[in-house]
Amino acid sequence: TEANIKCYGCGATLQSQTENLPGYVPEKKLKNNEQKKLICKRCHRIKHYNEILQVTLDETKFINILRQVSKDSSAAILYVIDIFDFEGSWLSQVPEYLAEFPIYVVINKADVLPRDINAERIRLWVSDELVQKGLQVEKVFLVSALKRWDLDNLANAVLKHYVNKNIYVIGATNVGKSTLLNRLVPILIGQAEQVKMFDIPEITTSVYSGTTVETLKIPLSSEYAIYDTPGIIKHERLTEQICPKCLQAVIPAKRINPRIYQLNSKQTLFLGGLARFDYLEGDKQPFVCYVSNELNVHRTKLDNADDLYQTHNKDLLTPPCADCAQDFSLNKIIELDIPVYQEIDVVIAGLGWITLKGYKSKLRLYVPEAAEVRTRTALI
Ligand code: GDP
Repeated sequence: TEANIKCYGCGATLQSQTENLPGYVPEKKLKNNEQKKLICKRCHRIKHYNEILQVTLDETKFINILRQVSKDSSAAILYVIDIFDFEGSWLSQVPEYLAEFPIYVVINKADVLPRDINAERIRLWVSDELVQKGLQVEKVFLVSALKRWDLDNLANAVLKHYVNKNIYVIGATNVGKSTLLNRLVPILIGQAEQVKMFDIPEITTSVYSGTTVETLKIPLSSEYAIYDTPGIIKHERLTEQICPKCLQAVIPAKRINPRIYQLNSKQTLFLGGLARFDYLEGDKQPFVCYVSNELNVHRTKLDNADDLYQTHNKDLLTPPCADCAQDFSLNKIIELDIPVYQEIDVVIAGLGWITLKGYKSKLRLYVPEAAEVRTRTALI
């Protein structure tokens, strides 16, 4: 039966139900397997197209991987995060298992940030956040996998410091892990000692054969390797709860043009139909929206906000579209009291943030239940 057949490349149990889970092969291949040494789609892609395909896992299975990694005394971690969604990139189980291990942080998607950022400030902020959460941050890189910014630098650092380490790449889904690896690994391989790359089974073997840890191994030397772990789905993210089309409007594909609204108190801003900001009290001040350029931002009077939402949550205030709006309501209410003279970001995880220029102010936010909201010192 299906359950007994393992991928010849990575050791994952073969299955033909779910394409983005480990061990996927189309059903007819699995049926006609007989004597052949079958490989899963992920191994097939790396063998024939040199392309690293991400598969995904739930958090519970992810813990198994962390447990296994923590037994490898030569482990180092490459932790990929999305600068636009730091909260959604955070994998809360990591400190429990990997607090002792050196962490290289790759902040991806630098290309979506406005031009006038202070890169050092962003690296420091991310580093501080992760150290506070109990990780040993060795170094932080700010890159764009898509635009290949700073990948050489990253590759050099990896080769220089991690020649005698096994590098485990971890990250939540959609942070750009596969884009990064597909561009980084060829650089690494090009500069590492000659290794025979795409030769099944040497290339894609399970780290711990006989276990069900579906980790893809890419050798960097005869002894050490880089391991790609499956992407972790975080179901509680706002971005997991909208349809792919709406997701395209929410996740910035291009450099964000900050949109500035001068608001008086008793005015309201809608970010699509995904968040509502009521400016209750305070002086006139700029609200700077760092959200996808595709997201409709709409300003109205506080008195009109309820009506506007009722009548236009399916056209003007999108995303969510009419289909995914059915599962949505802005039923989580958060009161924010911003103290005096401090530039702060009000972050809605996955959606972006609004920077207040720092006058004493009172705000009320309406967001979907799944949305995580926090404030921080302004990042930009
Ligand atoms: P994974 O699930 O972590 O493997 O993420 P993917 O590599 O599939 O990328 C998820 C989405 O983010 C895709 O739409 C990518 O095109 C996009 N993406 C990946 N890297 C970057 C980047 O550096 N900049 C931007 N703007 N988008 C990126």
